Amino acid sequence: MRISYSAPGRINLIGEHTDYNLGLALPIALPQRTFVSFDPDSSRALEVSSSLGDGPVRIGLDTVPGELTGWAAYVAGVVWALRTTGIAVPGGTMTITSEVEIGSGLSSSAALECAVLGALLTAADVELDRVDQARIAQHAENEYVGAPTGLLDQLTSLFGEPGQAMLIDFRDVTVQPVRFEPESSGVALLLIDSRARHAHASGEYAARRASCERAAAELGVASLREASVAAALTAVKDPVDARRARHVLTENQRVLDCVAALASADFVAAGALWNASHASMRDDFEITTGHLDLIAETAVQAGAFGARMTGGGFGGCVIVLVPQERVKAVGEAVSRAVCAAGYPEPSITRTHAGGGAGSANAT
Ligand code: ADP
Ligand code: MG
Repeated sequence: MRISYSAPGRINLIGEHTDYNLGLALPIALPQRTFVSFDPDSSRALEVSSSLGDGPVRIGLDTVPGELTGWAAYVAGVVWALRTTGIAVPGGTMTITSEVEIGSGLSSSAALECAVLGALLTAADVELDRVDQARIAQHAENEYVGAPTGLLDQLTSLFGEPGQAMLIDFRDVTVQPVRFEPESSGVALLLIDSRARHAHASGEYAARRASCERAAAELGVASLREASVAAALTAVKDPVDARRARHVLTENQRVLDCVAALASADFVAAGALWNASHASMRDDFEITTGHLDLIAETAVQAGAFGARMTGGGFGGCVIVLVPQERVKAVGEAVSRAVCAAGYPEPSITRTHAGGGAGSANAT
């Protein structure tokens, strides 16, 4: 029997680089999804092809880290991570298609992992708690692909609900729904893809993680979640590490403030928090680029309530909260400014919170 499963990409509304510091984040699932079609059989391998990769690639069910690289490593990583958890999955033929832009900070990687994971669990007739699924997908990305990412992307892809953001607390790994329907208050969520990819950024990501770990160690705490801004600024000797810590700690507070603003549908206040978050990523965490700063600044000057880079940084997308009557003006101002500065024409779309991973009817 053919199994169809899909999982969405995500936008982080606020709370960047907080996941591996056991902090807070507030993401939504995107309407764009990655689809897996799987025909299990009695072979000992997966034959996988993707419309976005080359293929087909053969993945033995006994695959181990180091054996495959490139896009197929995300799929092989899930097979491997399931096996190390003691879950046996069947071989078969798998076809992948996706609507999630790759390398734009919208987490095409977690969409792929979670869709493959769901298809394999369905085939094996195993039901797993979504937090456990997120950990398996993260394990695949960390250990098989070799990307030291936190749990944000996978949790969002698995827990997404239409019209809802998710307040994630990474210390106790809890996910709480938070209503997010700006359109019903006359406010649009714009997704501006700069078209600058973040492909070269893995070294920078690892450097930020190392800074945060050093700061926590110097403060004598297990994670930055346990520290205060004042302590970080006085006790952390290295001024760069201290600024990195300040970003994480002030960002956790902005997440809570943003949840409070959304509870009263106060998109002006939420927008101001997005601006503060962008400034913190630009000045303290230093993960934005001049290109992304220009997009965010121009959007706000043209009448948006707020704008911030979303995702790990060094490229990708800016999200904007803007009153509906200013959508056109903001889009035009941003396109004009980035083109005048010599960057490519951005892709600007209106988006909303979509649903999480799940099975789709067989076609
Ligand atoms: P992001 O998650 O922000 O899109 P990553 O660098 O984390 O960026 O993941 C992108 C990588 O994930 C791609 O380079 C590719 O290897 C893999 N990938 C994601 N989606 C697909 C897909 N539909 N088909 C093949 N590979 C994919
Ligand atoms: Mg990714």
